[in-house]
Amino acid sequence: MCLEMWIEGDASAAEQLASAADLAAKESGLHFTRRHPLVRWPWAREKPVVIYVSAGGCACSLLSDDADCGDEYWALEPKAADQLGIGLVAFAQHGPDKRRIFDRETGDATGPRDRDEVDGL
Ligand SMILES: [Zn+2]
Repeated sequence: MCLEMWIEGDASAAEQLASAADLAAKESGLHFTRRHPLVRWPWAREKPVVIYVSAGGCACSLLSDDADCGDEYWALEPKAADQLGIGLVAFAQHGPDKRRIFDRETGDATGPRDRDEVDGL
């Protein structure tokens, strides 16, 4: 089981997304890692910009030791929850208005769960 958490935004706002990710990382201490690797091809430039949120690697490092992947909601480490809140607020303040937040668990016996989209920020 592995938890991924990311923010997607339109490619047209790539520079603002990158700037917001940098500020969110600086203020929260978390990693806001931007991926838009296909920008070298014109057909790929319109793909959404994806920003992975973690403390390094996947988002599992944000989970508490007693997080249960069978629960509807997973527990975060208190410090990680605070950092995530700070980072998401910073991202909301500096990022484009149009953005989407997702999480997904991967690698369990049933395969990836449908990604969950979080409305609002
Ligand atoms: Zn993981």
